[in-house]
Amino acid sequence: MSLKIGIPRSLLYYYYYPLWRVFFEELGAEVVLSSHSAKGILAEGLKNAVDEVCLPVKMFYGHVLDLSGKADMIFLPRIVSVHKREYICPKFLGLPDMIRCLKNLPPLIEVDINLYKNNKDFFSAVTNIGNIFTKNRLEIWQACLKALKVQKKYFKLMQMGLMPSEALAIIEGRVEDKALPEGDELLIVLIGHPYNIYDPYISMDIISRLRSMGAVVATAEHVSEKIIKSNAARLPKKLFWTLGSRMIGAAFHYLEQPDVSGMVHVAAFGCGPDSMTGEIIERYARRAGMPFLSLTLDEHTGEAGILTRLEAFLDMVRWRKAACGY
Ligand code: SF4
Repeated sequence: MSLKIGIPRSLLYYYYYPLWRVFFEELGAEVVLSSHSAKGILAEGLKNAVDEVCLPVKMFYGHVLDLSGKADMIFLPRIVSVHKREYICPKFLGLPDMIRCLKNLPPLIEVDINLYKNNKDFFSAVTNIGNIFTKNRLEIWQACLKALKVQKKYFKLMQMGLMPSEALAIIEGRVEDKALPEGDELLIVLIGHPYNIYDPYISMDIISRLRSMGAVVATAEHVSEKIIKSNAARLPKKLFWTLGSRMIGAAFHYLEQPDVSGMVHVAAFGCGPDSMTGEIIERYARRAGMPFLSLTLDEHTGEAGILTRLEAFLDMVRWRKAACGY
């Protein structure tokens, strides 16, 4: 019987799930995902997480607990860096230590993923994980190469304008192809950490809501790495957080696109990086004359309040467009 590997549907799931799913499956494991984010999952997270952490980390706790009883092992790498000379938020470093304190969990697969110096460490991490299933290095490498290929396709689909769930549906063969969503030519840029804007529960389904109001939604994942990097480099000092830097690079790029009608920034309450990147993006947006809405989410945020603000923002953007033509 194959080993069931649990992957929490949270945090970097939105970036790297295809990679790890293919890797584990190629090595003969069965991948089990936690349920979709919901009130009960967050409630468990809130009950068990330390007070100081941000909303997405509290949600992550809930997802890990949801896997208890469903998986033989839970995949919980200690992610230090996913790009050369950049770091990921320090909260990710502490995740395995925080989660290890929870009771009645299956064993955790903990490996360090640190690409700060070079990619070599990634391959040694992958080998360590693969050793759980086989001692055959060739098999591990083949699984890794196949996984990287699928991951590349996933990123490419997102760069074509799809959201992670839509790109994943194509990768998994659940839909043949997907036409890019159309709106009434109101292009709204949504900037925020992927685990906030793409988690429908955390974001209160902001993408679907904007679309249902007639907007086409663009995000940082729709922009190529090259464009993001060159725009992020316009800051006087390089930001060393990968995700923050991505958000800034994408925002700077969109601020120069004439077809963009407005920008919405989503931040998590209690997030240090968000408070800084949000401030920088807002200053540049105001300077560029771009309509800008800042939303901060926490576990107490009311859905009605968010909806009202979004509707008012879109009304304002439409009036502006009708009056000024941009
Ligand atoms: S970047 Fe912010 S939202 Fe993300 S894990 Fe760190 S503190 Fe939480």
